[in-house]
Amino acid sequence: MQLARSVVRAVSVEVTLLGTGSPLPSPDRAGPATLVRAGDATLLVDSGRAVVMRLAAAGVLPVGLSAVLLTHLHSDHITDLNDVITTQWVMAGAPTPLPVYGPPGTRQVVDGVLAMLTLDQQYRIAHHADLEDPPAVEVAEVQPGETFTVGAANISVHETDHRPVAPTVGYRIEHEGAIAALAGDTVPCPGLDELCAGAHLYVQTVIRSDLVRAIPSARLQDILDYHSTVDQAAQTAARAGVQTLVLTHYVPPLVPGQEDEWRAIAAAHFPGEIVLGDDLTTVRAGAPA
Ligand SMILES: [Zn+2]
Ligand SMILES: [Zn+2]
Repeated sequence: MQLARSVVRAVSVEVTLLGTGSPLPSPDRAGPATLVRAGDATLLVDSGRAVVMRLAAAGVLPVGLSAVLLTHLHSDHITDLNDVITTQWVMAGAPTPLPVYGPPGTRQVVDGVLAMLTLDQQYRIAHHADLEDPPAVEVAEVQPGETFTVGAANISVHETDHRPVAPTVGYRIEHEGAIAALAGDTVPCPGLDELCAGAHLYVQTVIRSDLVRAIPSARLQDILDYHSTVDQAAQTAARAGVQTLVLTHYVPPLVPGQEDEWRAIAAAHFPGEIVLGDDLTTVRAGAPA
């Protein structure tokens, strides 16, 4: 299995698709999670299935994360947050806060994760003489319009539309003039246009509506009305004037060898660069090379 592919430019922001999967199990695609390196900031956007394995493959241990940013609280986007929290806690040499940003509800999720891990924390604190405190997770619930910084990265929060899942947000991450727009699950909406406007990289979770419609499952048909299709992601990219459209969260799972078919659907609407691929696909943005 080929895991890595790179599109290289002079770098100010680097995006690595850690997990290009979705709730549908795939042997080759981890759950939704994206790594953004921006200056001295190492940011994990969403925390899906097997995220810690993919972080390790990208050369990042949880203890090396500057912050976790959650787009929304659907299980596929947060299911391995427990692994990130525990591994960061156990591997840190000294108590090290882990900032977790997310929409309202994030505190409830983190409190629940920590509650689930209470026995584990007791075992480890009792066993390790130099481990005295439980994980230090610093939750910040964010609203659209808010801005914050993590190291040298400037981040703004934008409203997306994944109703009835609400609230949901996207993150616009800027460093040295390079901008990466990280959208979670959303249909096209004004907040998404604002998130993406003029971005160098626009990362969008997508579904293939034509393929989903062909699957005889009523429950699967329900997903059609609250995700961007490949066509819609490309239309958003064109409207926002982005440089590169990065597609992820493939539903159904992208079969290796069909990348050009998916790319052609997007290319019908968007003239810029279109990136999709396997887990660990990496795209860099900055001044033109
Ligand atoms: Zn979702
Ligand atoms: Zn999802």
